[in-house]
This record gives sequence, C-alpha cells and structure tokens, in this order.
Amino acid sequence: MESFVTKASASAQPLKNADELIDSVETFIFDCDGVIWKGDKLIDGVPETLDMLRSKGKRLVFVTNNSTKSRKQYGKKFETLGLTVTEEEIFASSFAAAAYLKSIDFPKDKKVYVVGEDGILKELELAGFQYLGGPEDGGKKIELKPGFLMEHDKDVGAVVVGFDRYFNYYKVQYGTLCIRENPGCLFIATNRDAVTHLTDAQEWAAYVMCISILGGGSMVGAFVGSTQREPLVVGKPSTFMMDYLANKFGIQKSQICMVGDRLDTDILFGQNGGCKTLLVLSGVTSLSMLQSPNNSIQPDFYTNKISDFLSLKAAAV
Ligand SMILES: [Mg+2]
Repeated sequence: MESFVTKASASAQPLKNADELIDSVETFIFDCDGVIWKGDKLIDGVPETLDMLRSKGKRLVFVTNNSTKSRKQYGKKFETLGLTVTEEEIFASSFAAAAYLKSIDFPKDKKVYVVGEDGILKELELAGFQYLGGPEDGGKKIELKPGFLMEHDKDVGAVVVGFDRYFNYYKVQYGTLCIRENPGCLFIATNRDAVTHLTDAQEWAAYVMCISILGGGSMVGAFVGSTQREPLVVGKPSTFMMDYLANKFGIQKSQICMVGDRLDTDILFGQNGGCKTLLVLSGVTSLSMLQSPNNSIQPDFYTNKISDFLSLKAAAV
C-alpha cells in the first residue's frame, strides 16, 4: 500500500491578541449556527461583540449554508434574537442558488425544480425565476401500479437541492427525471454539510452529501446516486458566495476574516477564498477534533467563542 506524506500545514494558534486580528482586516464574515446562535439560542456575548466590531468600523457579513430560510426570514431571526442586522448583510445558500442562476443568465422561460424548503422558493421568486416543487411536493406519494409512468415538466432547466425536512421518493424521482432527461438540466446543491444544530439540543444528521457516502440516500446524496452526476455547490466551501461578496462590496479577500465553527465548510471556505480564518469552538468542532492527526484543515486561529474578542481585548490593554 502506498504511504502518503502530507505536508503538514501550520497548526492553528489560540487567539491571544484579538486587537491585532481585528486591526488586520476590514470585514468579518460570520457563519451563523454555532457562531452567532445554536438553534434558537443566542450564544453568550454576541451582541456586545458585534457592537464593538461595528464601532471600530468593521463590515460584518453573515453567511449560512442553511437554505431553509430566505434573507428576509433570516433578518427576522436576527431581530427576534435582539440583533440588528440588515438583509444586505445576510447571505444564505438559498440566496446563493438564486444568485448563481442569475449570474449565468438562466433563461426566464425555463423553470427550476426545488427540493428544499421555503427559503429557496422565496429567493427564486425575488430573482424572477419560475419554479415548481418545494414544500408543495412534500405530501406527494407514488403508487407503483403496473404501467405507471411519472410525467415531468420538460421546461425544467435546473434542479436545486437543499435541506428538506419533507424529502420523499416523489421528489427524488421527479428531480432525477429532470436532470437525466431534460437536455442541459443543471444540478445545483445549496451545500454539503453533514450535520447541523436544527435545535440546540443536538446535532441533526441533516445535509446532503455525507449521506450518499454512507450509502444511504437522501437529498443531494440520493440524486448523486440516481443521476450519477455531481452537483454544482453554491454554498460553503465553494467560493461562489465569497466571490459574490467580494464583488458586491468591493472587498479584497485578504482583508476578510472568516469566522466559523466547521472546518470542512467555514474554514475551508475562508482558505479557498484567500482570507484569514478563525475557528470558534462554540459549535460542532471541539479542540480535540481540531488537533486530531486526522484533521488536515488548520485555521489561522481558534478560540472558544466570538465574545473572546472582548475579553482578550481587555486582557491585552
Ligand atoms: Mg456553523
């Protein structure tokens, strides 16, 4: 068996001087779940930390791979948690899917078949695209009677797959028919996360690709299996959203610090984009996972939670 020698990247350093990091960038991109909140609970010290960064003139952007909500719906969530964040500061993978279609001039006379929740539909609608599927297909069943054939819309030019609590066989078959039989039909995934905090009580086997690797079949994994095609991913760690953000705000990527709780999405997203990276241990990654010999993704810095910006600052003064 061939043995691999991987060039070890420099190990992540514990964040000691928050001011130095803050002064070295102009923009902070925050992942949401595990960084700002856990499920529906705000993480300690977040409002004060965001206020401090804003008072220093830093641009704040919030990026989430969770496609169940639109930017407007996320805005409401921030508001409910007592945080003042504008819609322009929020980038969800639901929005990324619509923004991607816009960026390639997806024809307005074509339709998008959605396997996912309301957030994707809302963003497609705002972008002026025609769609079908989504929650409406959540209750549909298939009866495999002899001779049964499922019809599908030949005008579907893209299938967008995101997290979907009402995922079912009807959706798999419908989306598969579109991808396989409609010439040039795109296969777009909002993200590939394995687990997330759908509630604050535990991690939920949620997102998409890992399931196909495990040999089961659900959401994107099911489509990869049935279509034998790989999706185009618009959420983290793909750089689509990073490029979009950098363009929109005119920011240099070296002037960005990406802050997240997941190594294979957030930190990789930051690294793929050429940004500084900070891992927080308030979400799905523990210190032992970060330091495990099996982990090859090393952020520049790590710390327990973003409010360490305040305490590390106080200690440094
Ligand atoms: Mg997260």
